[in-house]
Amino acid sequence: MTVSLRDVRMIYRTGPRPVPALDGVSVRFPPATFSAVMGPSGSGKSTLLHCAAGLERPTGGTVSIAGTTLGDLGETALTRLRRDRIGFIFQAFNLVSSLTAAQNVALPLRLAGRRPAAGAVTAALAEVGLADRAGHRPSELSGGEQQRVAVARALITRPAVIFADEPTGALDNRTSRQVLELLRALVDEHGQTIVMVTHDPVAAAVADRVLMLADGRLAGEFTEADAGAIA
Ligand code: ADP
Ligand code: ADP
Repeated sequence: MTVSLRDVRMIYRTGPRPVPALDGVSVRFPPATFSAVMGPSGSGKSTLLHCAAGLERPTGGTVSIAGTTLGDLGETALTRLRRDRIGFIFQAFNLVSSLTAAQNVALPLRLAGRRPAAGAVTAALAEVGLADRAGHRPSELSGGEQQRVAVARALITRPAVIFADEPTGALDNRTSRQVLELLRALVDEHGQTIVMVTHDPVAAAVADRVLMLADGRLAGEFTEADAGAIA
């Protein structure tokens, strides 16, 4: 599934003066591609991710996911598209502390009014290497394990696109690597589209391409081929 942005602009008008967060960004995120978005704090990375994922509506330009223009959808249709076709992974895991790992993983299906197919939750936990932790609550899991539960939760609806906002931001090197390998495998083995905002050069190195944002504009793009050329 391709996510494409055309001349996307976002001006926040909540404060005393308008803040231009995105200033005409055009970019495509094709299937089976792992893209990293980097840039200084305040350069518009989160805003770009939120607009691309249909969490926020840009003030200009268009975002389309698998050929559907998000601006043409009403709130209900947009919510349904997010729920059924997109997975989200956050820096802070965002697990529900009173639920077990298995219940957290099942949550997106429950919220959609669906019952997980027999074995689906176990299979998702097995895919992230946590089959034996199904009954544990977040407080009984390490940070890396919690993030892997969050990855399993993002996968349970089999989304074709995953948006990740600083997924390794709260993890140490070793657990970061496990989560990154997991994301990499999704792209290589299932053709998923991944868009990841990160400050972490180790995380960016796992991506196929790195987009640099500065002052709400795309300031550059590096691919593996460039890295080879530089090396
Ligand atoms: P980054 O993720 O690169 O740190 P953001 O996308 O969070 O950048 O922010 C880009 C700019 O937009 C910043 O100047 C920020 O202060 C502003 N901004 C972000 N969200 C809001 C908001 N909800 N209301 C007003 N300004 C915002
Ligand atoms: P197909 O493999 O024929 O594309 P699937 O139903 O297996 O059909 O996949 C539908 C979507 O779910 C695809 O976009 C794929 O990227 C994703 N997907 C498939 N298998 C997995 C998996 N094990 N984990 C996460 N996502 C998956």
